[in-house]
Amino acid sequence: MKVQYASYQETIDFLKQTMREHPHLFRLQSIGETWEGRHIMLMTISNEVAYADDKPAMLYTGSIHAREWIGNELAIKFVQYVVDNYRFNPKLREALSRNTVYMVPCLNPDGFEFSRNHFSFWRKNRRNNGDGTFGVDLNRNFDAKFMRNQNTASNTYGGPHAFSEPETCAIRDFVEGHSNIRIALDYHSQGNVFFPAHKFNHEAEIDGTDLNVLCANMNHEIQKVTGRQYGIHRGKPPANLIHGSGREYYYGKGILSTVVEVGTRNIPDYLKNMAESIDENIPALIHALSEAINYSPAAPVRVQNFTIQHVESDSVTLEWEYPERDDIYFEIYRSDTNKSMCGEENMVTVTKSLSFRDTQLKSGRFYFYNIRAVDKVTRVKSPFSPELRLKTRLADNECALTVFPAKEQVGYVGQNGGAKNKEHFGYNSMFAGVDVKRGISYGVIGFDVSSIPEGSTILNACFSLYPMNRVNTKIEKYGEWSVSLLDPTTLSDIQDYQEIANATPLHTLGVTIKSDRMTQGIWLKWNFNGVERELLEKLLTIGNVLLRLQGPSQLPLGNDSQVMQFDIGYGPFGSGLHYRPNLELLYQLPKTRLALAPAQVNTICSQEVTENKLASGFDAEGKIIYGQMEFSPEGLPDPAKTVFTQAYLKLCNKGALATGKDIRFTVELVELKDVDYQSVRKRTKIEYIGYEVSNNQLKDQSTHYFIFDSYSLSELGRLHAENKPFYFLIRATAESQASNVQVQWRVDEEQGANSELIIHCINRRNHPVAPVTDLTYGIENNQLKLTWTNPEDEDFVGCYVVRNRFHPPRSPHDGVKLYGGKDAYTLDNFSNHDIGKYYAVFTYDNVPNYSEPVFVHHQGQDKRSE
Ligand SMILES: [Zn+2]
Repeated sequence: MKVQYASYQETIDFLKQTMREHPHLFRLQSIGETWEGRHIMLMTISNEVAYADDKPAMLYTGSIHAREWIGNELAIKFVQYVVDNYRFNPKLREALSRNTVYMVPCLNPDGFEFSRNHFSFWRKNRRNNGDGTFGVDLNRNFDAKFMRNQNTASNTYGGPHAFSEPETCAIRDFVEGHSNIRIALDYHSQGNVFFPAHKFNHEAEIDGTDLNVLCANMNHEIQKVTGRQYGIHRGKPPANLIHGSGREYYYGKGILSTVVEVGTRNIPDYLKNMAESIDENIPALIHALSEAINYSPAAPVRVQNFTIQHVESDSVTLEWEYPERDDIYFEIYRSDTNKSMCGEENMVTVTKSLSFRDTQLKSGRFYFYNIRAVDKVTRVKSPFSPELRLKTRLADNECALTVFPAKEQVGYVGQNGGAKNKEHFGYNSMFAGVDVKRGISYGVIGFDVSSIPEGSTILNACFSLYPMNRVNTKIEKYGEWSVSLLDPTTLSDIQDYQEIANATPLHTLGVTIKSDRMTQGIWLKWNFNGVERELLEKLLTIGNVLLRLQGPSQLPLGNDSQVMQFDIGYGPFGSGLHYRPNLELLYQLPKTRLALAPAQVNTICSQEVTENKLASGFDAEGKIIYGQMEFSPEGLPDPAKTVFTQAYLKLCNKGALATGKDIRFTVELVELKDVDYQSVRKRTKIEYIGYEVSNNQLKDQSTHYFIFDSYSLSELGRLHAENKPFYFLIRATAESQASNVQVQWRVDEEQGANSELIIHCINRRNHPVAPVTDLTYGIENNQLKLTWTNPEDEDFVGCYVVRNRFHPPRSPHDGVKLYGGKDAYTLDNFSNHDIGKYYAVFTYDNVPNYSEPVFVHHQGQDKRSE
């Protein structure tokens, strides 16, 4: 298979030939010489290449690690693509007329040739270390937190000092001479994952969103070609930060920079896997190139203070600041997961305004928003503001619960694990799939859902798992992962392989995850469908939900592993609560049915009011006879903790009208002061209830239902909260003048059905408890400590503390969660106190309803932080 890959000399010959044939588009130069005397070649690609250095540029580096051949090969294929397509492909043409590519197909030619000809697995360059060993890991030799390592034999030996190697010096000198470089992509293999640069700092960065979106948009291009989804490793600091890498060196120069790990092997099957990797990455490269100008001095400035003004259960209002400019408009993107793309498909508005109300959202769900300013003449876009994250409020009838498994309820059982399987619970990671060492492995996840009352309705359920950030986890393109619901009562030991393997599932969830969606660093989610939610409802009686995660169980010839590794958030290599598997449930509590008999009924005519009789129709003069009902709110449960989910008025008639005329009866919810004809005529109508009932229907049936719509139901709730009686009028309407007809409604009969008001309600708090008071902060033992006073309220469950570096977080989800619980203080021991930031504390009840936030702003010492 190796002969299909171009050698370094063949690469140079190809690039030279291309330049000769297309001199306006390509320029080839040597930027340095290796230990073994090879030239490090750089190809400049731009429309009218003579002006290339005047345009914003993307730097491409490949094969800095000798055995990672994709970098060199992708560069060749990209150049060929440009040759074949630049004349007509509009996206490519525009990208190349506004931007420039600087492409180093192979930054480590000596190592690359050594890997090709002598030892495939070679990684470093070919420096003679003078002690019998060879090579420096060039990607540890940059001066971004360079770390001295004496072990010259190591595969990650970084060299005697930063920039000790001719290869790293060559690229450094080029980058320092080209301040037009705005984006840098460093191509490696393998893993199908992006590793964006970081700043060795446990803090969100102003361009963190730019990096995520750049990778997500490249990912979108990749997905269009092969359906594959690359991981994006960001949002969480890696456990061991890499020292001396090129990526951080470029980022330190203000360049958006990421490593792209391509494929599942260093040297894959050329015709199949390599061809796939190349095909999917060319459109991604064109996208990245087109973005360079948006990070150049020609771009509009970033939008400031992009934040939430107000969140409802079905809408959100966003606001932001921008200097007054006629030539600028804004694009806003909405997604339901983080690290999502921002493109035409999810652009929810284009506006000139400084606020936006997004309606038609679902209740109790996460939404992520991004914003860019755009120059309307040049169409050059600004960088992104930090991403906004929020969860819409719960609808009136909803409660929410996110459950995490206890330590002994989460882990994996391996076929060859034996008694050791017990140690896989509550410790580090969960494996699912098959490999030579462990045999078949199943993930096991148990959730305690006993806090949800039996009889509740599950409105939405979502199970989430986080595939771990591990370069050595590789997933080939076969097999799928599925989740089954097990019956916990049939298992005596969930940590036993045989029991888990042999369990008969109650149900296997309808959605499976294919191998190419099984991506490190991107949450996997299983949404339960209606049938699955009903099963969950049944499990509420047990109070326990047990899931089994299952991957492929067979290995094709030549494969030794097809296992995904998931974070369980426990143990030294677990990443804590934020990455623990979880089950998010949205549910409605069991409802109570209340049947209210009227406290009073009257029949109101122009002449008289008849008590204790309910009739409606027309009198002798053709004037309306009104039936009037009053229901008392007394005896109803506490309005602050009651939600009406449904209401209807049931009317039972005695006989019908003796007329052929079309006469119909309507019901109104009204506010009524006095029970007399004049007051009724001047009544304040709140709303019609349900649909009218015709005289013909009275003949056919004796019971009629007038059902409240959502508005009248909320008004009924308001009257309840204000402790006011509910008044209804039953009024007759006719197609033409009618007189002397009336129908009587049953109200107080010994036997048979009576007219009444039926209300379905649930016991749920309507409003949040009061916010905290006296929020202050100080630095104690080099840790930032926040303290506050909790409200005195029996329904107070806890506080939720969130940190945001850029703006006051107005949603408990808009930032890094620091604490959730009953304490009246928390420590922030994982951030840099020199950097200013905002903290917000929200109280919550058991619904949960969140209070308005209380903020503090920590100034920070470092005013030059960006
Ligand atoms: Zn590499």
